[in-house]
Amino acid sequence: MSDRDTRHKASMQKLKARVDDKVANATEQRGLILVNTGNGKGKTTAAWGTVTRALGYGYKVGVVQFIKGLWECGERNRLEDDPNLEVAIMATGFTWDTQNRAADTQACEEVWADASRMLADPEVYLVVLDEITYMLKFGYLDIDTVKQALENRPAEQTVVITGRNAHRELVAMADTVTEMQEVRHAFSNGLQARRGIDF
Ligand code: ATP
Ligand code: MG
Repeated sequence: MSDRDTRHKASMQKLKARVDDKVANATEQRGLILVNTGNGKGKTTAAWGTVTRALGYGYKVGVVQFIKGLWECGERNRLEDDPNLEVAIMATGFTWDTQNRAADTQACEEVWADASRMLADPEVYLVVLDEITYMLKFGYLDIDTVKQALENRPAEQTVVITGRNAHRELVAMADTVTEMQEVRHAFSNGLQARRGIDF
């Protein structure tokens, strides 16, 4: 064996030992809370990727779309016929279009009723609360209500939360927090959101 091969083998053995160690340490099994936040692109895309993953094993999934529910969404088009998927949509457009606090709060409360039903249902393996961070920010929903629903959810249920500026209490209670970091976004260079890529 060449020197390089010997070194490679030794470093791979070390790596394997470290990974085996970590695997041996991960013994707990339960549903998780995941937060996809940050200014970079990919928060909602990753949530729908997880939805697809869970549906692929025949699990029941609930997706709640806050704010952007009335927008087109390729993943929803593709997956909505799956009998294991329920999508609940907030019945208002972008909140800075409507600029109507009372109407937005009501629409938010209506769709939150669907969310809290899903969060109480042990049959639902995965719940996505897409763009819910803005509901807390605008004061349409309060953090204690959301926290309580998350804390009391069935032990096997996983929840994915998306949106910028996630509330620090959500970040604190999450098991996995990913901050999408924007290095560059096409939009800043005058490129329009693209069908099938951005929505
Ligand atoms: P995506 O849905 O593509 O995963 P996202 O959920 O991370 O994006 P949002 O803020 O919800 O981010 O994005 C809504 C829309 O704006 C999407 O069409 C997305 O591609 C686009 N977008 C995402 N990040 C940025 C950004 N930094 N600047 C401009 N547009 C963005
Ligand atoms: Mg998003």
